[in-house]
Amino acid sequence: MPFNIMTLSRVDMPVSQAEGLKILERDQFCCRYCGLDGRASFENALVMSVDFVVPRARKGKKDPANLVACCRPCNMIKGKRVYKNFEDAKKYVLARREEMRQAWETKRSRPAAKAASA
Ligand SMILES: [Zn+2]
Repeated sequence: MPFNIMTLSRVDMPVSQAEGLKILERDQFCCRYCGLDGRASFENALVMSVDFVVPRARKGKKDPANLVACCRPCNMIKGKRVYKNFEDAKKYVLARREEMRQAWETKRSRPAAKAASA
């Protein structure tokens, strides 16, 4: 399988490679938040991670029920907040991503518009 499990061995990852791989396999290597496919490209594989739905800092358990495949950007956006459940967390992450996308698109379209009128 063209997947770099090195990404699971970071110090900030309190899940062993074997445990992490099990979660990624269960979730078909797709981010449970945004749907990014970790098998689509090497770049995608590099950002795949495993997320504690209830963070460890909040006594979240290292239990498959509390673990989901997650890309690092979604993991970062989700942060250490506590959500009612996974669906609640997903809603928050997707809403934040959408805000960020709109901000990015606004910034990106400005110079392009200028260039077009010049
Ligand atoms: Zn994601």
